[in-house]
Amino acid sequence: MCGIIGYIGKQDALPVLIEGLRRLEYRGYDSAGVAFFQEGKTVIRRAVGKLRNLEAVVGARGGGQIGIGHVRWATHGAPSEENAHPHRAGGVAVVHNGIIENYRALKRALVEAGETFASETDTEVICHLIARQVRQGHRLPEAVRFALREVEGDYAIA
Ligand code: GLU
Repeated sequence: MCGIIGYIGKQDALPVLIEGLRRLEYRGYDSAGVAFFQEGKTVIRRAVGKLRNLEAVVGARGGGQIGIGHVRWATHGAPSEENAHPHRAGGVAVVHNGIIENYRALKRALVEAGETFASETDTEVICHLIARQVRQGHRLPEAVRFALREVEGDYAIA
């Protein structure tokens, strides 16, 4: 069980994400992370342990008005900074609640196709599948829909 949050709006996303994660912290607390925009770039910050450890590595303000966040309760891969969410492939960052049951087969196929993985999580296959669809020319909504057709399990993502 974990908590995920996504924000798009007019406020600085980072404080909204942190406050949302505070309310979700009872759902998962082996690590936490956020992705948000800062000066046109996607910034990812993650920390092992409770949310206050993440708060210590992000500033009070992010800058961008869109972002995602996660408090993790590990199912695949040890509680570590590398395995903390968000995960990323190309320009696609993902937070995920749940389990991708066919991730081994998907990961094997992605590795054979030349993708490099940075974590032990089941989650990271989702980023690579979406990024591949984006590379093939799909806009993000279609890319997500097509990628998720390959995924089996119970899950929510942002
Ligand atoms: N299966 C994912 C992982 O182990 C998500 C776990 C969760 O729901 O917190 O990273």
